[in-house]
Amino acid sequence: RLLEIETRHRLQVLGHLLPPSALSNTATGKTPDALKILAENAEYYESVGRYLAFTRVSSILKSLPYAVTSVDSLRGFPGLGEHCRKVIEEILEDGVCQEVESVTQSQRYQTLTLFTSIFGVGVKTAEKWYKEQHQTLADLRASQIRFTKEQQVGLQYYEDLTTPVTRAEADMIRKTVEEAVYRYLPGAVITLAGGFRRGKETGHDVDFLITHPEEGKEKGLVTKVIHFTFCFSQGLMLYSDEIGNSYQKCRKQETSKFDHFERCFTIVKLNQELVNAAVSGNDSREGGQGAGGQGAGGQGAGHRPEDKHWKAVRVDLVIVPISQFAYALLGWTGSQLFERELRRYAKNCKHMILTSHALYHPQQNEYFSAAAEEEIFAHLELDYIAPWERNA
Ligand code: ATP
Ligand code: MN
Ligand code: MN
Repeated sequence: RLLEIETRHRLQVLGHLLPPSALSNTATGKTPDALKILAENAEYYESVGRYLAFTRVSSILKSLPYAVTSVDSLRGFPGLGEHCRKVIEEILEDGVCQEVESVTQSQRYQTLTLFTSIFGVGVKTAEKWYKEQHQTLADLRASQIRFTKEQQVGLQYYEDLTTPVTRAEADMIRKTVEEAVYRYLPGAVITLAGGFRRGKETGHDVDFLITHPEEGKEKGLVTKVIHFTFCFSQGLMLYSDEIGNSYQKCRKQETSKFDHFERCFTIVKLNQELVNAAVSGNDSREGGQGAGGQGAGGQGAGHRPEDKHWKAVRVDLVIVPISQFAYALLGWTGSQLFERELRRYAKNCKHMILTSHALYHPQQNEYFSAAAEEEIFAHLELDYIAPWERNA
């Protein structure tokens, strides 16, 4: 537990020294964003290849320690195709790229960007609604569409859920999760993963991994503990989607980006007054609940009542058997592109299959155990990459 606190502290300090924004300082600061827009647009046309091509170049440009002043200086740059070159050249010469401008001005891009920002809405659904002539959230709310449970809460709490979650808010949620978990499983270990572990100051949600030093003790935690605590005793749960563990070692060839841990994707009510009090240093509450407050149950269509003192926040809880913990931590720390590239490297260069559960070598029919992330990098014969260097 001490070790965990120390590590967390170190991460926070380093996170301050090296905020992700410090990485986006090329003179062509516009270029990564421009390429990101083209990547998104490719995604809206379900062109995975083009999405990855633009995303990779955008990500590499963002991390360059020097300013790009000419396309020629990018000779031999990995993955830089003709299309990206043209975009970069145009921005260097004219300050803007015509293609990017017309994409951002297009109704399709704007509408799909808006719709996919709703919790529970992917590209396919967004496109379907766009083709049905919907353009705004008001259109959707007034329509006859039969929304899924996710989409309903996504629309209901749209404003909260698209407001970045701060580190102070994540810390407060951590306290609530700790209370809920320790009550039932005192020896559990709770770890903050996702963007916050990479040193980011804000995120779209808060991701926690929960494990126990004695394998098996963690089983059933989601339904028995968290759901009960949040829902019944405190009324903090606005939405939850729970699923049990479905991992089977025999699914050796699996490359799906989803894993099989017992987990709970939730939306909780976070008491903002407690967060403000904690931030301004006069946190006077007495071991009470971290998140919470009894706000009005349902919130109206996107506007925030004056007396609403809570915020809806997405929280992911993943229950991990200790023997798979290092893999789960690596998988849930992200970024998404980093994970994708690491798995691609494992597959293409090492002929191994890396998931959030295991590292497997099909030809040798061998599983590699790892007690820490460092060991996974060693199995892959890579130098260790610290979480704050994974903001690809
Ligand atoms: P943000 O700070 O905006 O939340 P993030 O990097 O934390 O960014 P998340 O979507 O929360 O992004 O995901 C964190 C990591 O967890 C991702 O990189 C991904 O690899 C993993 N992940 C997320 N959702 C799933 C899922 N359903 N199944 C398996 N892994 C997932
Ligand atoms: Mn996250
Ligand atoms: Mn998440």
